Amino acid sequence: MNDIIHLLPDAVANQIAAGEVVQRPASAVKELLENAVDAGARHIQLIIKDAGRTLVQVVDDGKGMSFNDARLCFERHATSKISCADDLFAIRTKGFRGEALASIAAIAQVELKTRRPEDETATRVVIEGSEIKEHGLTVAPVGTSIAVNNLFFNVPARRNFLKSDATEFANIEEEFNRVVLVHPDIAFTLYYNGKMVLQLAAGNLKQRITGVFGTAFNDRIFPIEQETDFMKIGGFLGKPEHAKKKRSEQYLFINHRFVKSSSLNFAIENAYAQLVPEGHHPPYFIYIEVNPATVDVNISPTKVEVKLQDDRLVFGFLNAAVKKAIGEFSLVPQLDFDYDKDLDPGNVPTGMPIKPPTVTLDPSYNPFRSSGSTHKVSFGGGGGYSAPQRPSGMSQDWDSFLRDIKTTEVTAAPAPQPAQMQIVDEAASDDPIAAEAFLPIYKKYLIVKIKGQLMVVNLYRAYERIIYESYITALKDTPVVVQQSLFPETVTLTAAQGELLNELKDEFKRLGYEIEPMSSTNFAINGTPVNEEIGDIQELIESIIDDYRSNRMNRMMETEKNLALCMARQRRSSVKPIVTMEEANSLLQQLFSCLMPTISPSGKKIYETVGEEYLQNLLK
Ligand code: ADP
Ligand code: MG
Repeated sequence: MNDIIHLLPDAVANQIAAGEVVQRPASAVKELLENAVDAGARHIQLIIKDAGRTLVQVVDDGKGMSFNDARLCFERHATSKISCADDLFAIRTKGFRGEALASIAAIAQVELKTRRPEDETATRVVIEGSEIKEHGLTVAPVGTSIAVNNLFFNVPARRNFLKSDATEFANIEEEFNRVVLVHPDIAFTLYYNGKMVLQLAAGNLKQRITGVFGTAFNDRIFPIEQETDFMKIGGFLGKPEHAKKKRSEQYLFINHRFVKSSSLNFAIENAYAQLVPEGHHPPYFIYIEVNPATVDVNISPTKVEVKLQDDRLVFGFLNAAVKKAIGEFSLVPQLDFDYDKDLDPGNVPTGMPIKPPTVTLDPSYNPFRSSGSTHKVSFGGGGGYSAPQRPSGMSQDWDSFLRDIKTTEVTAAPAPQPAQMQIVDEAASDDPIAAEAFLPIYKKYLIVKIKGQLMVVNLYRAYERIIYESYITALKDTPVVVQQSLFPETVTLTAAQGELLNELKDEFKRLGYEIEPMSSTNFAINGTPVNEEIGDIQELIESIIDDYRSNRMNRMMETEKNLALCMARQRRSSVKPIVTMEEANSLLQQLFSCLMPTISPSGKKIYETVGEEYLQNLLK
């Protein structure tokens, strides 16, 4: 009988290996970004189309490759990063297996363009399904561009395994975050479907975190730093009040590599015990450095679990360091670090509609529980009222507003009489903010006089903010009560709209809309929010779905914020006009108990104060 064992052709072997290395577009993103980092790039661009299905491209300005290396890099076990097994224990680069490019080229149509600084010409290689189609000279800037087209073009089974665009893109974003959070000194730009969606300038770690997660994080995190002979811990921890039900903002890096470790996570979360509500998880961005020889990274390339030699030692040290940082932080709660909004270009997503501010409500927040950092603001008539614990930065505008009012009064009086001084002192003692007069004007504005100053409020925006935050609470915590309809109305949508509505059914329910699919395009509305005048339900649902879809595509908003925003935009116009002083004060009270009273969820200014100076200028 003939021998039956034979070696698999390279293309087949590569395809099998690819199964492990490249499971989804996000895996290709990870590998290409890491290669660019390893190549010493200062600026890395990530270009994605259709959640990576049609294109994943990384362009870097790193050291490039020679003509031959450009061809060799697609061979299996082709690497410039290690040369013997011992090197494995002293790895300082991200990659070392030499598998990534070979795997990617086995299952996609790849175009590589690369040039070293010392070369005059660049090299272009086109490879499809492990087959080199072109290898020649071209013109290109120094650095490397690798475009991965039509991932899984020759493995339809894998292509079919991919999830929705939203999910695949979320995975890509996550891989992107894991890389950019370790390299704040490298600039990154992210393009999605032809639009620049995120631009991160090179800067410090805090700037990078706020660049990725929004400027609100500036006030939500505090530093952790600890060092001994055998390990070093640095980074930032989230303030306990910003703990979330999801673990999505927890990042742990060991020797610049993202890792997951349930025991180390426990070491961190345990230090927060009693400070965060049950089932909530604090954000953290922790960077541990240990001797590379004590970490085993030689596990599957896509795995992020880590094996440490001194597991228990690291556990104890990490736990103590987090506790210490929390302790220090509560002693000095108002530290602001090295952040200057105006100097931080990293947060400007140019070429994009302005992102709404990211607001997170603390569902466990109890407005009647007073605590050290609670602002006592009392509105007229209603007696004492404590504003919720806003992160200090967010309340800044309100605080400075109050301060401004006080200073204006003091300075406005040329020679303060004792009696006037007394009034000021009284004001300083308990901050009574009561509208002394109010005037609704042009339908959507409310002018109120507070402590001698005028404040102009855009009512639509104020309501949008108030409603938005209440919807976030409804989505995350306490759902709106549904009133069953005796005669359910039906809503007819396009198939695409219908699919999205189906996806959002549960969220709609939390907002008070009980929706039952009759077919892919017809839906019965069996219940609506109790005590709410809905109007044209067909129009309402249609506008929300369309608005939602465009937010998701263009701004990549997450489900809850997106839906709350769309709903708030629709519902804000249905509120009743303000007629009485009580209504005016109640509006102010509601507005200033919001997390972000100054800016609407659509990103617009909600109110402006008009002082004497302004009027003087007006009539100059
Ligand atoms: P590994 O990163 O494990 O070495 P890869 O398959 O990812 O394996 O890459 C193979 C080799 O190709 C790398 O070792 C490196 O020499 C070269 N290479 C890959 N990407 C780049 C890049 N962006 N710039 C310069 N060289 C690169
Ligand atoms: Mg690599």
